Formats: sequence, structure tokens, C-alpha cells
Amino acid sequence: MSTTTRNQIPGKYRAVQAIAPGKLELTEKNLIDPPAGFVRIKIEACGVCHSDSATVEGAFSIDYPRVPGHEVVGTIDKLGDGVEGWSVGERVGVGFLGGNCGHCICCRGGDLVNCRNQQYTGVHHDGGYAEVMIAKQTGLISIPDELLSVDAAPLLCAGLTTFNALRNAPVKAGDLVAVIGIGGLGHLGVQYARHMGFEVVAIARGADKEELARKLGAHHYIDSTATDPAAALQAFGGAKLILATASSGKTVATTVKGLRETGQMLVVGVSLEPLDVTDDVLVFGGRTVAGSLTGDSAAGDMTLKFSVLSGISAMIETMPLDKAPEAYAKMMAGKARFRMVLTMQS
Ligand SMILES: [Zn+2]
Ligand SMILES: [Zn+2]
Repeated sequence: MSTTTRNQIPGKYRAVQAIAPGKLELTEKNLIDPPAGFVRIKIEACGVCHSDSATVEGAFSIDYPRVPGHEVVGTIDKLGDGVEGWSVGERVGVGFLGGNCGHCICCRGGDLVNCRNQQYTGVHHDGGYAEVMIAKQTGLISIPDELLSVDAAPLLCAGLTTFNALRNAPVKAGDLVAVIGIGGLGHLGVQYARHMGFEVVAIARGADKEELARKLGAHHYIDSTATDPAAALQAFGGAKLILATASSGKTVATTVKGLRETGQMLVVGVSLEPLDVTDDVLVFGGRTVAGSLTGDSAAGDMTLKFSVLSGISAMIETMPLDKAPEAYAKMMAGKARFRMVLTMQS
């Protein structure tokens, strides 16, 4: 007789894992108990992020097989020893940062994002392309009741990344803020920028994105295939901040000249291309080029809260877990509008 009851997960669960660069396969894994300091999550939804390619294509050194996915939402199914402040049945999220250690030099200084012992979800351990995941307590994010799991998922990386970058940037309400790219990150970045009170410029390739950019809240639109974006930004007085979401190194280098004095180019999308910026642009006018890596779990909580308060959501397309390779391929081809989300209900 089966010992499984309705609320328990059976002894095995389905997952989609990368087995070699470029290869994803559906598999079954054995259920394990969460170790001390970790919880087990019954996953309901997981977003498909471009950074998943670092696992699937092997840009990071990956110990295959590895389950990708770092926009995970589900309910806690079991607590490991020593876990406090979380309970079974509670809905939680997990982003790219798997959880800080609490004792390294960065953690002791309050910088939990750059924890030197940070494990990346779906990179160093299995992530959310699965029905079940083991997650570290310090990486957990609270999910507000107002959000459906499929809607919360993309906010845990694409949302958190853009929200936190804008929130911590050296800008004030009313400043001119440009967002490069209207994709998975950018379409959220424009909404956050608008709701934070900035004058928002969306920059993307082609005239066809203008209508959507304005609907998302952009006051201005620059088609970078028709106009020099730096000159166009200077015509508005120059940007105090440019948030580069899905840009090549070349786009970042050319657009940096659209910054006004003391403006900042803030890069959140990784292209691995060199930034060819001459130093005079930085020295005269005191401009900066900086990077921002997602955010800690408290910033994750705030991202979701702010999204609910402001009515901000990602535009999503859902697919069941077993179609993960298809969802991933669609995202990689740039054909997702704008975020693919996997659902786990069978
Ligand atoms: Zn991501
Ligand atoms: Zn640490």
C-alpha cells in the first residue's frame, strides 16, 4: 500500500536537466530531505531566463547533469533542521542568488548579494525546471497573496534585477532615465522606472516596439536603428541614468555618450563583450559605468510588494514542464513575448 497522502510528494519527481552543453532532457529524480538550513519546495512555476543559458550552454563550469531555473515559486513542503521563520505550506520564491552564508567579509559588511560563498540557483545546485527543489533558507523570498505563482516567477530575476538596480541608482524623481532593450528585463524596467517617478526613455531596435514601450510607461521612445541613441538622449538634456538590460558591449559603448554630467550607465545584462569607452567621456563630466547583480532576498520581497502596489507585471507565456526545451529554445531565439514561464501541474 502506498504511504503517499494527498499533501505529500511521492518518492520521485520530474525534472528537466541539462546533461551536456546545449542538451536538455526530461528525467525523474529521487526525492531527498532538505539538509539543515534548507527547505524542500513543491514548485508551481519557474520562469525561463536568458541566464539559464550559462547552465545549459556551459558558460559557467557546470557539473552535469544540472537542473536550470532561478525564477522559482512554490510552497514549502518540508523544513530542514534549524530553519526558523518559515513554515510548511508557505508560498516562497527563489531567485538567482541561492542564499548568503552570513559569515564572509561581504555578509559581515551587510552586502548579501556579493557573499563570497553564494551559490547560484540552477548553476551550483539544481534549480526550478522541476517539480521539487531544495533551497537555502537565506535565499527565500516571500510571495504576496495577491500574486499568482506564474506572475510572481519572472519578478524574481527579471523584476528584482531591474527594480533593485533602479532603486539603488544615484537618481531622483523627475530625472531622465533611459532603459536599453524592451525584452524580458527591459519591459519590466520601463514599468518600474515610470512608477518610481522618473522621466522614462525606452531605447530599442525598430519602430514596432514604440507602441508597447509607451503602453508600459515610457514618455519617449528612441529607435536605435534609425537614430543615434546618444544624440537623441542629449536632445532631451542627457540621461542621468541608462539601464542597459539586453545590450551588446557596442550598444553600451555608443549610448554612454547620451549621459549628462555625473550620469551613470548601469549594466544588468551580461554580453561578455568588451566595453569600448574612451576615458575622456568618464573624466570630463564625472560619468560612471557600473554593474548591478540582481538583489538579496529582502530586495526580492520589496520587488514583489512594489509590483503589487503599482500593478506591475511581466507579460508571460506559460508552458508545461515537459515542454521546457521548447520554452528555452523560444527564449534563446528572442521570440518570447516577453517571459516564458514553466508550470508544474500535471
Ligand atoms: Zn535570471
Ligand atoms: Zn557570505
